[in-house]
Amino acid sequence: MTRTDVAVVGAGPIGLAIAWRCAIRGLRVEVHDPAPGSGASAVAAGMLSPVAEAYFGERRLTELLVASAARWPGFAAELTEASGTEIGYRTEGTLMVGLTGDDLAEARRLWAYQQGLGLPVTPLRPSELRDREPALAPRVRGGALAPTDHQVDPRLLVPALRTAARRAGAVLVPQPVRRLSDVDAGVTVVAAGCGAAALTGLPVRPVKGQILRLRAPGGVAPGFRHVIRGYADGEHVYLVPRADGEVVLGATVEERADTSVTAGAVLRLLRAGVDLLPELTEYDLVEAVAGLRPGTPDNAPILGPLPGRPDVLAATGHHRHGIVLTPITAEKIADLVTTGVPDPLLAPFGADRFAVASSTGTGDAARPDAGDVSGRRFAVASPAGDAARPGAGDVSGPGRTTEEDLWS
Ligand SMILES: Cc1cc2nc3c(=O)[nH]c(=O)nc-3n(C[C@H](O)[C@H](O)[C@H](O)COP(=O)(O)OP(=O)(O)OC[C@H]3O[C@@H](n4cnc5c(N)ncnc54)[C@H](O)[C@@H]3O)c2cc1C
Repeated sequence: MTRTDVAVVGAGPIGLAIAWRCAIRGLRVEVHDPAPGSGASAVAAGMLSPVAEAYFGERRLTELLVASAARWPGFAAELTEASGTEIGYRTEGTLMVGLTGDDLAEARRLWAYQQGLGLPVTPLRPSELRDREPALAPRVRGGALAPTDHQVDPRLLVPALRTAARRAGAVLVPQPVRRLSDVDAGVTVVAAGCGAAALTGLPVRPVKGQILRLRAPGGVAPGFRHVIRGYADGEHVYLVPRADGEVVLGATVEERADTSVTAGAVLRLLRAGVDLLPELTEYDLVEAVAGLRPGTPDNAPILGPLPGRPDVLAATGHHRHGIVLTPITAEKIADLVTTGVPDPLLAPFGADRFAVASSTGTGDAARPDAGDVSGRRFAVASPAGDAARPGAGDVSGPGRTTEEDLWS
C-alpha cells in the first residue's frame, strides 16, 4: 500500500489549492515543499483579469480564465470560512485606460476584440472615467471598465490556502522532491511552478517579472479603488490598490531567469505609474522585487497526466494567470484524481499537446536528469492558444457572429 493517496509537489497557490480540494474529499494528502509560497505567488499582483487579459490568439486560454474567474466569488467565500482569514478579495472592477492618443488607439483595438468575444467591456467618456477615479491624471485620454475583473492579495491567499489544507488533513513535508520516483503515493501532482521542468521534462520556462510596492502616506487607503491597467506612452502597467494603503505597480515581462531588480525597469514602471496617477509621487516606495512566472510555449497551463504516466499529473505552466486559475485548476485536478476521467475543459491543456520529439520511451519522468537535459524534448504540436486558427486574433474577423459568447 502506498504511504499516501496524493502527493503534491509544490506549495504555491496551485499545489495548496489542489491539496485542499483533495483533502476535503477524504483523500490522504501530502504536500512537499521546502519553502511554501516562495515561488511566483510571493510577488504576484493578484489581479483576476480574464477580460483585460483576453489577448489576440489566446481564445482557449481566455475561456479557461473566464471559467475560473466565475468560480472566484464562491471560492473566496469558502476559503475565508475554511481558513478563518481574510484574503483581500475585492470586486470594484478594473479600469483600462490610455494616456495618449496612440495609447488609446492601441487599447481600443484590444477592447474591440474583447467585446467581440462577448466579454463585458464598457467604454467610458473621459468625464465618466474621472467620475469613477478622480485621481487619474488629466492627460489620460480615455478608458473602459471591465466590471468583472477583480483582485485578491496573493500574500494573504497562500497562507489561507495552507491553513485550509492543513485543517482538512493535508500534511506538509518541508523538503524538496528531487526525483518523482522518491515519492510514495497513488497519484503525484507536480505543481512546482518553474520547478516542474526539472522534475518532468515539460517545457516550462521562467519568465521574469519586476514589480514594485508603494504605500500611501499616513496609513490611509490609496486614493483610487479600481485596479487600473494603463497604456502610458507605449508602456503597459497596472496599479492594484489594497485596503491597507499598499499599491502594487507592475510588471515587466522578460525572457530571462534571473531575479535582479534593474534601475531601468524601476524607472519605466514608476514613470508610467506616475503619468497615470500623479499622486503616486507622494507614496513611499517600499519594495522592488522580481519573480519568475512559469511559462509554456503557448503561454497556457499544462493540466493533466504526463504522456504514458497516468499516475503523474501536471498542474503547472500558469504563467501570468496562476492566481486567477487557482480555483478551476484545483477543482479539475481534484476531479481527475478522484475519478480518473479528465474534464473536457482540460482537453486543450494536456501535456500531450507538446509532441515528444525524442523521449526516454518509458515516460520515466522520475529520472534525475529528466528535463531538457534528459533527451525528452517537447515541441508545440497543437497550441492551446489559437493563433493558428483562421480568423483568430483578428479584430475585424469572426466577431460575435461566429464566436460564441464567453461570458455567461
Ligand atoms: C511579477 C508577477 C506578477 C504576477 N501577477 C499575477 C496576477 O496579477 N494574477 C495572476 O493570476 N497571476 C499573476 N502572476 C503569476 C502567478 O504568480 C503564477 O502563475 C502562480 O504563482 C503560479 O502558481 P504555482 O503554485 O504553480 O507556482 P509558484 O507560485 O511559483 O509556486 C511553486 C512552488 O513550488 C515549490 N517547488 C519548486 N520546485 C520544487 C520541488 N522540486 N520540490 C518541492 N517544491 C518545489 C516552490 O518552492 C514554490 O513554493 C504574476 C507573477 C509575477 C512574477
